[in-house]
Amino acid sequence: MTLIPEPAPAFRGRRLRRTPALRALVRETRLHPAMLVAPLFVRPGRGVREEIGSMPGQHRLSVDQLPATAGRLLDAGVQSVLLFGLPESKDAEGSGAWADDGIVQEAIGALRSAVGDELAIIADVCLCEYTSHGHCGVLRGLSVDNDATLPLLARTAASLAAAGADIVAPSSMMDGQVAAIRDAVPDAAILAYAAKHASAFYGPFREAAGSAPAFGDRRTYQMDPSNGREAISEIRADLEEGADMIMVKPALPALDLVAAARDAIDVPLAAYQVSGEYAAICAAAERGWLDRRAAALESLTAIARAGAGIVVSYFALEVAGWLNEMDR
Ligand SMILES: [Zn+2]
Repeated sequence: MTLIPEPAPAFRGRRLRRTPALRALVRETRLHPAMLVAPLFVRPGRGVREEIGSMPGQHRLSVDQLPATAGRLLDAGVQSVLLFGLPESKDAEGSGAWADDGIVQEAIGALRSAVGDELAIIADVCLCEYTSHGHCGVLRGLSVDNDATLPLLARTAASLAAAGADIVAPSSMMDGQVAAIRDAVPDAAILAYAAKHASAFYGPFREAAGSAPAFGDRRTYQMDPSNGREAISEIRADLEEGADMIMVKPALPALDLVAAARDAIDVPLAAYQVSGEYAAICAAAERGWLDRRAAALESLTAIARAGAGIVVSYFALEVAGWLNEMDR
């Protein structure tokens, strides 16, 4: 048998992959600590740093622990946090969400006095952590009453902005929530969780924040994960209502939406690498099935490559440390 030589390939991608320096030169997507947002869970008490079982390395912190945590984040170059609160007590309306001495309001105050404007403080605006039934709005019978929830979200956002939040982030997926909040909060920016799927990947968060619904699920207000075009409609609606920034959540399971949103809109775009995405990497790494660092970096790079300029991630502090190390 005669071997016929193949013609030499004209395209040789390997020329630019030969050394680390060449690869660094042609790298298209670069993560930077300043694009990362660290979510923090705040709980009552003093001196409390309680590990979250399903999210290894993440803690529920009492307010007095926040300045030190903020200091570590700032040292690593992470300049934004997203705050979630676990209140002392809950009720049917979720009144702890807008209490002037509410847990997140106190957290914002403590962070502001400790680090001033060095940190961009984003406050989640939802009722599920504060309602006794765990749904994101007030109930009428067994369903969430959209329009009765709107003034409560507006009140919550106003209270968080008054406490010093730079950005309020409505996440309840009530129709009209951005418009209701825009009127109540003229000066704070709004980061709208515009495209938020009813995702199985939120599981560990519900343990972390104690916000699992007592009955039913959230499919009547969060989006069906099967829908992509609808996500763009949600995003456009939130922008028309006055959102300054848009979030897609979850991130890796919705990378197509991140890319589509980046094409469709010009405002800053965030993606939230949610608790289940984090926990899956942690669990596989603990078993030796994945390299934690490589998998975390690759997943965040993919989210940025898809078009997110802002990435919310439980890996924020760790990844920022690795990025600083690689920079040296
Ligand atoms: Zn909620």
